[in-house]
Amino acid sequence: MPADFDTIVNLAKKRGFVFQSSEIYGGLRSAYDYGPLGTELLRNVKDQWWRSMVRMRDDVVGLDSAILQSTDVWIASGHLESFSDPLVECTNCNSRHRLDKLDDPNKCPTCGSSGTFTEPKEFNLMFKTHMGPVESEGNVVYLRPETAQGIFTNFENVRRTARMKLPFGIAQIGKAFRNEITPGQFVFRTREFDQMEMEYFCHPDDAEEKFQEWVEIRQQWYIELGMTPENLRLREHETDELAHYAAGTYDVEYLFPWGWDELEGIANRTDFDLKAHIERSGEDLTYFDQEADERFVPYVIEPSGGATRTTFAFLIDAYTEEEVRGETRAVLKLDPRLAPIKVAVLPLSKKPDLVETTQKVASRLRESWQIEVDVTQSIGRRYRRQDEIGTPYCVTVDFDSLQDSQVTVRDRDTMDQDRIPIENIVAYLTDRLPH
Ligand code: ATP
Repeated sequence: MPADFDTIVNLAKKRGFVFQSSEIYGGLRSAYDYGPLGTELLRNVKDQWWRSMVRMRDDVVGLDSAILQSTDVWIASGHLESFSDPLVECTNCNSRHRLDKLDDPNKCPTCGSSGTFTEPKEFNLMFKTHMGPVESEGNVVYLRPETAQGIFTNFENVRRTARMKLPFGIAQIGKAFRNEITPGQFVFRTREFDQMEMEYFCHPDDAEEKFQEWVEIRQQWYIELGMTPENLRLREHETDELAHYAAGTYDVEYLFPWGWDELEGIANRTDFDLKAHIERSGEDLTYFDQEADERFVPYVIEPSGGATRTTFAFLIDAYTEEEVRGETRAVLKLDPRLAPIKVAVLPLSKKPDLVETTQKVASRLRESWQIEVDVTQSIGRRYRRQDEIGTPYCVTVDFDSLQDSQVTVRDRDTMDQDRIPIENIVAYLTDRLPH
């Protein structure tokens, strides 16, 4: 059973994972700020993606391209002309909706009236602004709606400087902006979000095989990081659903509290983008295979996921409530690699010599992990808080520690406790906290 939506949203706010943007001014709709724990979790999700997509592979390199790009990029990619959703407005209550997301295309979900929608209007999703002090048509720029185009425009720069041979990929994590008609479901659909994208360039004849490979790799990534396999599925796009540039697309979908919804799309983008940029820029973005003595425009396989959306899914998936000695324990069973805090160090009381030993233990652990020292409240309440934010290990310094130089390590999931000499604590945790 998927976790209850409100429970997760409340936990996220209460514990400082996610705050409403501009909250002190009443909040800006559909924009969110990540608090101390959310920042760590989001960063860990991105780090794990980067690790598996770039660091562990010798055929993929990274890129960090600009959010603002030449308007020619968006003309060539087709975003200026066709990056739009069909927008309808209810003439009864004035609410606006995305026609393709309505359960009943004739019924307004806000006020319930039928047949009150205007004709659908294509609404371009790109945010527009001006470069420089004068607002004129000539200096319009757009905030990028995807990170991918920065990769295509740098294809030749990267190939040449990193001396890459096909097949190879270029990966990028960064902000993307879409003026969504119907943002919502907390951080699931926002107007500003983080994408994790990789363009894998290959020979056209290899594209289908690479496409299947990447679909498999990407689905496994979620499972390896602890997402419940039953809450994940692959959905192949119908031909009429495919984007204009795609020869095939699979979505990795997650069973959110409101139903199955997209986490990531893996598309065979063919040679659409490189060809479009060759045509508009006049630059040569073809690839020459010396061994085969063949020049061609590479095909591209693109796994494209949302970091903020994925972070939300991990949060939902990890949330568990269980009965412990007649009480309900809420615990985030996050994979330790994703957990915001890896180790909490807790003195049994606030007595100065306990706190001093706690600080000594903490400074050893800090070298390796994100830790938290918590001296307030009863030890039971502190364990509950750490369980609720997903901390895999709590190290407790008690009065005996002052005599025997040992501490108690408590495991989040089993709640088992081990007594460990302080000098072995780093080794003990290193065995249990994978990178
Ligand atoms: P949707 O149909 O849900 O609007 P999309 O199919 O247009 O999404 P893509 O263009 O395939 O999305 O973007 C790739 C990924 O970027 C998505 O799988 C999602 O994880 C993320 N993403 C896209 N739009 C948003 C958004 N508004 N908020 C958060 N993440 C998003």
